[in-house]
Amino acid sequence: LVEISKLNKYFGDNHVLRDIDFSVASGEVVCVIGPSGSGKSTLLRCVNLLERPQSGHVRVAGEDLTDLDCDIDAARRQIGMVFQQFNLFPHHSALDNCALALTTVLKHKRAEAEAIARANLERVGLADKLDAYPARLSGGQQQRVAIARALSMDPQLMLFDEPTSALDPELVGEVLSVMRRLADEGMTMIVVTHEIAFAREVADRVVFMDAGAIVEQGRPDQLLEAPREQRTRDFLERVL
Ligand code: ATP
Ligand code: MG
Repeated sequence: LVEISKLNKYFGDNHVLRDIDFSVASGEVVCVIGPSGSGKSTLLRCVNLLERPQSGHVRVAGEDLTDLDCDIDAARRQIGMVFQQFNLFPHHSALDNCALALTTVLKHKRAEAEAIARANLERVGLADKLDAYPARLSGGQQQRVAIARALSMDPQLMLFDEPTSALDPELVGEVLSVMRRLADEGMTMIVVTHEIAFAREVADRVVFMDAGAIVEQGRPDQLLEAPREQRTRDFLERVL
C-alpha cells in the first residue's frame, strides 16, 4: 500500500532522511522506534507529503504523491493522521469534530455525516460524549475523538505520531486499546511510538531508525529480543 524509495529530506543543511526505502503492505501494522531527532516524524510526514522530500518517491495505493501532477488533497483523503497533540477544533463538539470534514470536504449531507461521525465515536468508546467539547474531555478521550475523526474519512491507511506521549500514564491504555482493536480489524497502520510493549504485542514489523536511516527492521520478537545491530541494542537498553 505504501512504497517509499530513495527518499531524501533536508532541512537546510540538515540531512534528515537518508536514502530511505520503506514499504508497508495492506493490513500491516508497522511500529517505528528510534531516538529523538532520528527522523521518525519527518518520515511519517513524508508519507502524506506534509513534508515534501527533495528526492525519492512516495507511492500510496499506486499513486505517486511526489509526482508534481498528483492531486495531493485527494491522495491525503486516503490517509488518516493522529498526532501527539490532538489538534481538535476547540469550538466544536466531538460529533462536529468528526462530521466537519465529511460535509465540507466530502460533501456529505449533514445527517449522513453525523451518522458516520456517531458510528466512529461509538467505535472508539465515546458514544456518550457526542456533544462534549474538547475542553470537557480527558486527554485520552480527546485523542480517541481525534482517532474517530480520522476514521470518519474512511482512510486506507492510518499514521500515528506518538499518539500517547502527551497523555497522563493512566490514560495511555484506553488509546492503545482503541489502536489495538483497529489493528485487529485489519487497518493498515504506521505507528511512531515509545510504547515498546505495544510494538511487541501489536506490530507485524518494527522499524528502528537512527540518524535519518532505517538501521534495522523485523518481526517484533526478533528486533526487540535479538537485535542484530549494536545501535539497536544500545537504544533498547536505554528505553527498556
Ligand atoms: P522525536 O522522537 O523527538 O519526535 P523524531 O525522530 O520524530 O524525534 P524528527 O522530528 O523527524 O525526529 O526530526 C529529525 C530532524 O529534523 C531533527 O534534527 C530536527 O531538528 C529536524 N527537523 C524536524 N522538523 C523540522 C523543521 N520543520 N524544520 C527544521 N528542522 C526540522
Ligand atoms: Mg517525532
